[in-house]
Amino acid sequence: MLGVLSRSIFSLSKENKPQQLVINVLSMIILLCLGCLNISVSASQNTEKSIIIKQGDNLYKLFKKHHVPQKQLQALLKLGKPTELLQSLKVGSTLDLTLNTNNQLNKLVYTAASGDGLVVHYDSSGFHAIKIAPVYPQQYKTIAGTFHHSLYQDTVAAGLPPKLVQPLADLFSWKVSLAKALHDGDSFHIIYTDAEDGSTHGDELVAAEITHKGELLEAICYQTSPTAKRHCYTPEGSPLTPVFSRYPVNYSHISDHFNPKRKHPILHVIRPHWGVDFAAKKGTPIHATADGKITYLARKGGFGRFIEIDHNQGISTRYAHLSGYKKGLKKGAHVKRNEVIGYVGKSGLCTGSHLHYEYRVHGIAKNPLTVKLPQGASLNQEDMAAFQAFKVGIWQN
Ligand SMILES: [Zn+2]
Repeated sequence: MLGVLSRSIFSLSKENKPQQLVINVLSMIILLCLGCLNISVSASQNTEKSIIIKQGDNLYKLFKKHHVPQKQLQALLKLGKPTELLQSLKVGSTLDLTLNTNNQLNKLVYTAASGDGLVVHYDSSGFHAIKIAPVYPQQYKTIAGTFHHSLYQDTVAAGLPPKLVQPLADLFSWKVSLAKALHDGDSFHIIYTDAEDGSTHGDELVAAEITHKGELLEAICYQTSPTAKRHCYTPEGSPLTPVFSRYPVNYSHISDHFNPKRKHPILHVIRPHWGVDFAAKKGTPIHATADGKITYLARKGGFGRFIEIDHNQGISTRYAHLSGYKKGLKKGAHVKRNEVIGYVGKSGLCTGSHLHYEYRVHGIAKNPLTVKLPQGASLNQEDMAAFQAFKVGIWQN
């Protein structure tokens, strides 16, 4: 509790930097939350114990020392996952206990040094735990501007590190190609962490708003804990990174591997093989390996019947030599992961019935069997609440 309070006071005394505003908002949410809990427990004569966690401390020892009934400790730990932070108390963290006249625990506030925390309160129905949204001591930078030249030129002129331009375009690639479709007068508002400011994560996007032809596109990148990787989401909390399956067909074997130096089986010349061939019977269903949009569905030279899907984040997949397309599927359609898009065949330049499958990142073919697939991360209920609070705070500047 003291930790939260002091951090809040500290942040209020600072100037209007965006990251501190975020901290302010989060702290206020936390204080409001604590405030409502206070009302429910302050009816009788309570005593408060504020403990700084030292080496070797654990909940059992501390409860014993402060004469809290062991029965309460058991009830508390029975809450399971919500109280897992309490199972290994971190040195330097604070534990505030509120005890009633019978030394019964009414409230417990644990604030880890990392910013994570937990409030547990006791009422007639037992213990209840609420996780405190972590407050990260990070440096955020904000830039805003209007596009007149190009995505790269205008954002870099406004101060965006050049290495963040491609990740920015990737955030919205499922919606619009920022590199091609920007209009003079479209605008941007971007928050990022800057390695030069001592961000432990280096340069990373935190949030971006693009107003494109009057439409607001928005992405929020969020860490569920200070050490977690940052993932990007829609304002509703859906992951922007597609989730991939490794294989587009079941019941097949690999008849030819990814090989940039392959000798072509028909042409007998060095012709790189930019995909993997899955041998399968004619008519075997082909599944989209991730959600995406069909950008090509037609014959394409030696590939025969061919489908290309644009996923998000600069990733595309290609499917060749099909015997047919799924009925009704058209260019521009959105498909879901594992949805059937067509059927194995041997159309085009081909020795036998198989699927030629490619996985491309910004147009460069990668080995589909070994490429590190992007890690999309959905938010669980608890993280979703923290994400929403973070989202509200982040644009308060
Ligand atoms: Zn092939």
